[in-house]
Amino acid sequence: MASFPEPIESALKELSRLPGVGKKSAMRILYHLLKGGSGTIEGLENALRLLKENIEKCPLCRGYKEKTAECPICCDPRRDLGLLCVVESTQDLHLIDSTSAFNGSYFVLHGLLSPFKGIGPEALGLEELRDRLDPGMLREVIIATPYTAEGEATSSFILSMIEGTGIKASRIGMGIPIGSDLSFVDPETLSRALSGRREVK
Ligand code: ZN
Repeated sequence: MASFPEPIESALKELSRLPGVGKKSAMRILYHLLKGGSGTIEGLENALRLLKENIEKCPLCRGYKEKTAECPICCDPRRDLGLLCVVESTQDLHLIDSTSAFNGSYFVLHGLLSPFKGIGPEALGLEELRDRLDPGMLREVIIATPYTAEGEATSSFILSMIEGTGIKASRIGMGIPIGSDLSFVDPETLSRALSGRREVK
């Protein structure tokens, strides 16, 4: 089998690490970049450098924001900051936000509790979430983790943190299929699931 020059091998290795990119797609992307010449590669290089240098996690919602700007979610005066929605990922934050059924603030976990994968409360920033559970600021926390084993375990953990604070806790409603990711749910169903959220006691 022919082996690739080292720079191609290492680029293929990095590309294949991206979610949804298998070996074949990695090769397709790589040859697209090489074929496009230095301009194509430079464009990507610049965009990636800007990501690295200018993007950071917001200390409040843990969503991504520009380093030199305020968080567009946490600093938006039109939002109801008494409502907090806890989501697994930034993609879920944008999915929920695009439904217009929710106009509160968010907390992004960037994962789910999983003893199997060694992901504990610390990795999900749950101490930071605990700091936000101030009944003087929050009326309701909506847990929008998926209905999977890990999503349910994470939800139970968060519920136990909310218990006794006087803050209402609710779980995103029906229509979210069991075992499914929010990204597979259409916006209308997601919208209904948010309005149909049920209080958890
Ligand atoms: Zn924020």
